[in-house]
Amino acid sequence: MFGIFGGGNNKNQKESCELPFLCWQCEMSAPNGCGAHGESKGVCGKTATKARLQDILTYGLRGLAAYREHARELMDENSAEDRARLMELDDVTAETLYFTLTNVNFNFDEHIAQLMKVGNAGVKVMDFLSDLHTRRLGVPAPVEVTQNKASGKGILVSGHNLDMLEKLLQRIAERGLSDKIGVYTHSEMLPAHAYPHLKKYRALKGNIGKAWYDQTDIFSKWNGTCVVNTNCIVPPEKSPKVKNYIDRLYTYKVVGIDGAKKIENDNFDPLIDHTLQLPDIEGFDSDEKIVTGHHYKTVLEAYGAKVLDAIKAGKLQRVWVIAGCDAPGRSRNYFRELALAVPQNHLIITSSCGKFRFNDVDFGVIPGTDIPRYIDLGQCNDSNGAVHIALAVAKALGIEDINELPVSIALMWMEQKAIIILLALLSLGIKDIYIGPRAPQFVNDEIYNFLAQTFNLKVISGDFKKDFQKELGA
Ligand code: SF4
Ligand code: SF4
Repeated sequence: MFGIFGGGNNKNQKESCELPFLCWQCEMSAPNGCGAHGESKGVCGKTATKARLQDILTYGLRGLAAYREHARELMDENSAEDRARLMELDDVTAETLYFTLTNVNFNFDEHIAQLMKVGNAGVKVMDFLSDLHTRRLGVPAPVEVTQNKASGKGILVSGHNLDMLEKLLQRIAERGLSDKIGVYTHSEMLPAHAYPHLKKYRALKGNIGKAWYDQTDIFSKWNGTCVVNTNCIVPPEKSPKVKNYIDRLYTYKVVGIDGAKKIENDNFDPLIDHTLQLPDIEGFDSDEKIVTGHHYKTVLEAYGAKVLDAIKAGKLQRVWVIAGCDAPGRSRNYFRELALAVPQNHLIITSSCGKFRFNDVDFGVIPGTDIPRYIDLGQCNDSNGAVHIALAVAKALGIEDINELPVSIALMWMEQKAIIILLALLSLGIKDIYIGPRAPQFVNDEIYNFLAQTFNLKVISGDFKKDFQKELGA
């Protein structure tokens, strides 16, 4: 089973599936759910494939909802254009949820069309959020950030929510505490350092730690307070280490775990007062530096012409997009090994927290140019930047189909924001994407076959040399 997607005997692929599907959402459900006893279809006639496609639709919507929420926080309620952009997203969400209701649609092609519609909304929400970020905080510029270096009173902020970060920095400044408290970033908050309107706050210091899952170790060691302002929080049910810092942990809006404190109504004073009472930060004395801030708007402006010249002169041969979600486990070392193996005259574009697998490396510049070989577009919601860069290059080179550009794509995935990003790329007709480290467990043979045949979507084999033999040798 599941043999075609990814091209053969990939041990990372799903090899068996006990249940063809499970659905228990309506009264007609079989006992313990349709599919629970091996039924090939539900009482309503829904097949396993349709049930799974409907699951994928809702997973995509969850990722969409996360970005939509950040867009709503940043948008101008009085702007008709902002409201229209938000409503367009909400219309797709409502229509898609209706689409998945019992006895609404049993047509395969229309399920795929709906998936593409959700993907298209993914493109729009990332563009919307990107525009709002740069409108409010300025266009990021590349910046070198201290890594694992901290002193004095400290607040460590993890997550994607730049709006919250700015409000916290603003409050610290209003209280005249900019030289008494340092605010440090963790995981997806790293790109904050590149935004001009955030950089102006003296309290914003360096970055601590890597991707979200090292929070249990980092927060345990951190003497100050910690804030997790979006998903990718580790609960006490997952790790006993959470008890080491639960009394110093604050969450924001939808994020929460039992025992942590909540930042209510954007009142940051309890967090700030608590931080002042805690000991100074100790044990973070590293001299490491990391680079971030290659937002696509910066890349196009600063390097656009140079990239075109380098391509025409044969100095730049290929672009790699190696990006996505990090998660525990050694299987993602594949992406580090791949990044390290990329030839000198190739460019690496990344985003999201997967970059922490290789952003400690100094990749230098493309030989014969001053174009950096490593470009960090920002958070996972900034993944749209890779598409904007590809479209701009294709247009300048007179290439109609961006699939004809010398681009290789290897994406790590973990949760549902990665799913909306993948659907967004598919809705744009982007092919030949490798995903990993494992195949999604929610797709079956029929869906695998469709994705493989239509988009040439593949799962990594675990051996990057085998997967990218041709491209690495080019
Ligand atoms: S929607 Fe269909 S498959 Fe799902 S529980 Fe109801 S009858 Fe069963
Ligand atoms: S990129 Fe994905 S895994 Fe990483 S912090 Fe963001 S949402 Fe979580």
